[in-house]
Amino acid sequence: MQHVVVFAEQRQGQTRKVTFELVSEARKLADRLGGKACAVVLGAGGAELAAQLEGYPLDVIYVTEDRDVDAFVLDPIVDYVEAAVRLAGPSLILIPNTLSGRDVAGRLSARLRAGIVADVVEVRVEDDGAVVCVSPKLGGALTTQCALLPAEHGIVTIRPSAFAVTPSAGNAQVVALAKPAKSYAAAIERDVEEGAGELALEEAPVVVAGGRGLGGPEPFEALLKPLARVLGGAVGASRAAADAGWVPYNLQIGQTGKTVTPKLYVAVGISGAIQHKVGMRASGTIVAINKDAAAPIGEFSDLLVIGDAFRIVPELTKLIETAKG
Ligand SMILES: Cc1cc2nc3c(=O)[nH]c(=O)nc-3n(C[C@H](O)[C@H](O)[C@H](O)COP(=O)(O)OP(=O)(O)OC[C@H]3O[C@@H](n4cnc5c(N)ncnc54)[C@H](O)[C@@H]3O)c2cc1C
Repeated sequence: MQHVVVFAEQRQGQTRKVTFELVSEARKLADRLGGKACAVVLGAGGAELAAQLEGYPLDVIYVTEDRDVDAFVLDPIVDYVEAAVRLAGPSLILIPNTLSGRDVAGRLSARLRAGIVADVVEVRVEDDGAVVCVSPKLGGALTTQCALLPAEHGIVTIRPSAFAVTPSAGNAQVVALAKPAKSYAAAIERDVEEGAGELALEEAPVVVAGGRGLGGPEPFEALLKPLARVLGGAVGASRAAADAGWVPYNLQIGQTGKTVTPKLYVAVGISGAIQHKVGMRASGTIVAINKDAAAPIGEFSDLLVIGDAFRIVPELTKLIETAKG
């Protein structure tokens, strides 16, 4: 591994903050490894994001606006990222630890026969060239350190919000990627964007999550969304709520859902099962609203508000609105 290649996920020129975090960190790692810092931008609107990335200290930005990237399921993305990595040379590949990022990373690891470390929050390059990746497990109860030993390629998926964004004028060379001579079978027939325009759960500074105690899908819209809106946050859910079909699975937090680390986590009608806890216990301040004073969530909340969520949440939303003027 000598260079650092970031997969910059985007749709129609729009990306998430994690992309800027990764390209900022890529520069530091590339300097440690003595190589180039590169980014790969794929699909319609790619040139727009590439232009934005020129405000970061990258050496090379690989770009294609090939329509196949948006028309077929994942395969073109993996082909293009692989092609960019092969052009760059031996590389440490940084991929956001998002649902699709994890999918790309796994396939790429098989293609490149490269080692992979997932859900990483810190990366350091040792003097012998080993790349040490720090990754919290069990919601932060344990921290693991895995080293990618010097090899041709290594892959790391990075948790959003792990690194700071440090823009600085770059001088990147923009390189157009050649279209692979391939045809793809799995076409995307319809693209449904759930929660379009809303803050991504993993990046939200405040998460208001609901559970079975809400009794149905309506309170997520009528109670939780307004509270999340006044707090500048996003809505999440327990698995019980997702399993019941009240919210889509991409809102589920926990062992088999997403891991979130907001500054403030508000759990409404959630009992606090261990499988939920591991996805949110590293949050800054945890406030639970539960009608059961003995609910397990009380054991790891900073504040347990005992009472009926249907009375408390609208009042709380109103109070915050008033306080904000
Ligand atoms: C392998 C495995 C993986 C799992 N992965 C996950 C995961 O990723 N995420 C996850 O969340 N769970 C996961 N679970 C499920 C987990 O064990 C719990 O069943 C689930 O978290 C319970 O969800 P809940 O807290 O919403 O529901 P419940 O446990 O039923 O709790 C509902 C709470 O609402 C309160 N309540 C009821 N009415 C009101 C009201 N009007 N006002 C205020 N409070 C009220 C009740 O007092 C209660 O505490 C997993 C389970 C397994 C076995």
